[in-house]
Amino acid sequence: MRKVVIVGGGSAGWTTAAYLNGALNDRGQNKQVDITLIESPDIPRISIGEATIPTIEHTLAVIGVEETDFMKKTDATFKQSIKYTNWLHNDNSFYHHPFSRTRPGPIDRSGQRWMESLRNIPFMETVTAQPIICEINRSPKSLGKWDFGAPLKYAYHMDAQKFADYLRDFSVVRGVTHIQANVTNTKVSENGYIQHVVLDDSSEIKGDLFIDCTGFRALLINKALGVPYEDFSKWLFNDQAIVAQFPYDSYFPGVIRPYTTATALSNGWVWDIPMQSRRSVGYVHSSRYTDTESARSELIAYQGCSSSELETRLIKFRVGQRRKAWQGNCIAIGLAGGFVEPLESTGLYMCDLAAVMLAEHFPYTDQHMDQLAYRFNRIISNRYYEILDFINMHFCLTRRTDTQYWKDIQKPEHITDRLLAKLEHWKIKAPTRADFDDQSFYGYTYNASSTDSFDIDPRPPVDTAGLWNHESYEAILFGMDFRGPEFNQKYGTSRQSAKVHPFVINRVKQAPQKLPPHHIWLHHQLGMPQWKTAYIPSGWV
Ligand code: FAD
Repeated sequence: MRKVVIVGGGSAGWTTAAYLNGALNDRGQNKQVDITLIESPDIPRISIGEATIPTIEHTLAVIGVEETDFMKKTDATFKQSIKYTNWLHNDNSFYHHPFSRTRPGPIDRSGQRWMESLRNIPFMETVTAQPIICEINRSPKSLGKWDFGAPLKYAYHMDAQKFADYLRDFSVVRGVTHIQANVTNTKVSENGYIQHVVLDDSSEIKGDLFIDCTGFRALLINKALGVPYEDFSKWLFNDQAIVAQFPYDSYFPGVIRPYTTATALSNGWVWDIPMQSRRSVGYVHSSRYTDTESARSELIAYQGCSSSELETRLIKFRVGQRRKAWQGNCIAIGLAGGFVEPLESTGLYMCDLAAVMLAEHFPYTDQHMDQLAYRFNRIISNRYYEILDFINMHFCLTRRTDTQYWKDIQKPEHITDRLLAKLEHWKIKAPTRADFDDQSFYGYTYNASSTDSFDIDPRPPVDTAGLWNHESYEAILFGMDFRGPEFNQKYGTSRQSAKVHPFVINRVKQAPQKLPPHHIWLHHQLGMPQWKTAYIPSGWV
């Protein structure tokens, strides 16, 4: 039986353990693979990573988690969108990137038509009811039988610490061995494979496959095997976050937003994530442009609280990816493998993807390890580049000039070549699915020097729209007024009002009756306290 040793018990380690146990061992009922997880009792988890995306549904389903139980135990709420405020100008304007969108017919020209219209209604509000459903704080699920048409796509906000604990308890009962100890040494054999890790009581844990989930420490993949990191900071400036919690015991803001808010500040942006018992807030910023104390003051101003009320934690990070996530018999998952700032909640997603890909490419013998690793690395690396481009786009389309940070971030030298090629292409035609079939654009030549090592796939990365398709790109492009001035000039004042799809109008009209306020759903279905200052609209109790 193959023995898998996972080092690290954060969200990455426990997601990997639970997923492999679900996918390969039939949730422990038919054991094909022996899984051991070693977790340090001394080194805390990063305990951040609270917003997810809908792909988490697949992971939880394979693990065998029941939604209500999961939500109760992890302080979870629903997330239907990300609301971006102050990204284009510093004027309180906003746009949504929701998870659901209507497909009007076989040919979707809604983007082009909207561009030619007066654009007096935000684009996403013309093609989906979800931004309005979010703005009126409704749950994506009803209290009784669902009679509101196609289901609304959603993900969760949750407590990262509770999530890892939940997966741990779940996995241990189903046969995963849990060792609480520090790994102090790693024995690597001549062929570059890890033979065993040494614990602080000097015992040795042998394995066939070692998964490095030690977070930014990257104990196995980097410290033992020396796999370098590809740095993304040329395109993404942020390198630290100041985080704080606001418990509802002291202040409940009347409702629980069913979406994440990402508000641009002077040198970065702040996340605002509501859970059942508290809000989590974090200012992601660049230490090259601001100092920690100024960033803290800005976070205080954002929240509107007094400085003494705010207990904060500073988290430093480095954006980029491991040049190879899988080297020899070691696979880095989670922060050990890479990290792109959490603007679109992709950290846990990358843990999920790596666990799914490992299950699909699982090496039952050592014979084809290199071939499986090559494919795994290509898929993971492509996805990191896809995330880099997409996040890069949120920043580079800004027209803010109020600080040096925003002036610099929109300069062409801070936009990836791939993204520049995409943006040029979308000046000729509106985004469609075909743009992701084979990304070779006129005038785009790949600079091979970024992957100059012989054992790394030399082909240019391909954005397969594995995570975001043209609809998501449109949400950001049109939210950021891409080509707006050009169309204003071309069509002058003789433009018609933006048209909302009738299906969307219908849904918006029905939503207040059909969908309960988010906090009322959480109260009724999960037993969340009915906070004293909760706003109860008429017709709901
Ligand atoms: P950690 O949580 O750091 O876990 C490392 C583990 O390794 C710990 O258990 C530690 O004890 C163990 N360990 C370390 N050294 C040893 C040793 N020598 N021996 C034994 N054990 C050891 N992702 C999202 O999806 N959504 C978000 O909203 C989001 N927000 C984020 C905000 C910030 C500022 C940051 C930095 C990240 C965010 N992420 C987010 C990413 C997310 O937090 C991570 O992807 C996720 O938590 C996985 O972390 P990890 O398990 O790799 O690392």
